[in-house]
Amino acid sequence: MKKVVVLGAGYAGLQTVHKLQKKVKGKAEIILVDKDDYHYETTELHEVASGTQPALKITYPIADIIDPAVTKFIQDEVVKLDATKKQVQLKQHGILDYDYCVLALGFVSETFGIKGAKENALEMTNIKQSLAIYDHILASMKKYKETKDKRYLQLVVCGAGFTGIELAGALAEGRPEYAKVAGVAPSEVKITVVEAATRLLPMFSEKLADYGVKLVESLDVELLCGAKISEVAPGEVVYEKDDQTNSLKAETIIWTTGVSGSPVVGESNLQERRGRVVVTDNLTDPNFDDLYILGDVAAVMDKESGRPYPTTAQIATEMAVYAAKDLESQINGNGHLSVPFVYKSKGTVASVGNTHGFGVIGKLEIKGYPASMMKKMIMNKSLFEIGGFKEFIAKGRFDLYH
Ligand code: NAD
Repeated sequence: MKKVVVLGAGYAGLQTVHKLQKKVKGKAEIILVDKDDYHYETTELHEVASGTQPALKITYPIADIIDPAVTKFIQDEVVKLDATKKQVQLKQHGILDYDYCVLALGFVSETFGIKGAKENALEMTNIKQSLAIYDHILASMKKYKETKDKRYLQLVVCGAGFTGIELAGALAEGRPEYAKVAGVAPSEVKITVVEAATRLLPMFSEKLADYGVKLVESLDVELLCGAKISEVAPGEVVYEKDDQTNSLKAETIIWTTGVSGSPVVGESNLQERRGRVVVTDNLTDPNFDDLYILGDVAAVMDKESGRPYPTTAQIATEMAVYAAKDLESQINGNGHLSVPFVYKSKGTVASVGNTHGFGVIGKLEIKGYPASMMKKMIMNKSLFEIGGFKEFIAKGRFDLYH
C-alpha cells in the first residue's frame, strides 16, 4: 500500500485529498496534516478582519471532507521535510515516512525586511489573525470613547494589491459599526491605504484599474499612492513620497504588502525563492520526482511571459486537480501523466464591500454589482467542489440577487 502525505489543508491540499481519496481506495493510504482542524477560505479573510462576516461563515471542519476509510487526519505543525529520506518532521507527532508527498503549506505575510512591520503591524493571513484585527479595531474604538484621541479612529492598510483593496472595501462596510462603538459619526472613522506604486492594479487595463480606484474612493477611503512605507513604529506608519519622509499616526495598522511561500520550504533546503519552488510540468519538485509542490509554495511558469503566474486560489485548486490525477497514475504504476499541467486563468474578480467589485472574466471586464455577484458565485463553486453539498448549503452566499 502506497503512502501519500499531504501537508496543508488549504485549497490545494484539501482539493488533492478530496479528488484522490475517491480514486485510490485499497491502493493507497492518505495522511493529511494541518495545524488547524478546519479549512478556511483565504479569499474571504478580509470579511472576518472587518467583522462583516463571522469566522464560521468562511470555515468548515476538515473532518467533513475526509473519507476515514482512505484518509487519516493529523492535527500538527510541519517543521520540515527531508526529501532525500522521504520523511516529514512534525512538531508533536515526530517523523512521518512517505512514498509521495504533497507540499501545500500556503503563504505567509512578506514584510521585505521593513523595520518594525512584523512587530507593529497586524497581519491577515489566517482566521486567528483576522479575528485579532477585528478585536483590535473594536478595542481602538472603545479607547477613542475614553480618550478622544483621533489616532484610535484611524485605520491604515499597508499595500493596495488585491488583498489591500478588498480589505479597504470591507472596512468601509464595517465603518458604521466601528463608529457606533466609538460614539462618533461614520465619517470620523478614517480609512487610508498606503501604496508604493503610482499605477494601481497593474494586472488590469488602465480603464478598469481607474474604475477600481474610484470605486474604493467613493466609499470615503483615502488612497495614498506613490507612498513607499519605510518603517512602522508603534502607532505610526512612516513613508517616502515625492522625496520626502512623512508619517501617519494610527492605532490600527494592517499589513498587506504581499506574500511569500511557507518558511517550511526554506527549512527543507528545497531550491526556492521567497518560499516558492519552480515546479516541473507535472507539478513536482525539480530534484524530487515524488514531491508535489502546489499552491502558494509553487511557482508555475507562464511560458508566454516567462514569469510565474500569480498565486491565487484558482490556480491552487487547478494544480490539485492535476496532481490528484498524476498521483493516481503513479500509484497505479503508470508513471507521470504524459500531458503537462497547463493553466488558463478564468479571470480575476475583486470584491469591494458586499455589493460592489470589478474584474475580468475571460476577456470581459465586469464592474459594480455583477462583479460582486460573480465573486460570490466563484466562492460558492469552490465551496461546492471541495466542501460538497453540506458546506455549500451552510456557508454559500445566497444574497446574490437582492
Ligand atoms: P500583492 O503583492 O499583489 O500586492 C501588494 C501591494 O503592496 C502592491 O501593490 C505593492 O506595490 C504594495 N507594496 C509593497 N511594498 C510596499 C511598501 N513598502 N510600501 C507601500 N506599498 C507596498 O499582494 P496581495 O494583494 O496580498 O496578493 C497576493 C496574491 O493573492 C496575488 O497574486 C493576488 O492576485 C492574489 N489575491 C487575489 C484575490 C482575488 O482574486 N480576489 C484577492 C487577494 C489576493
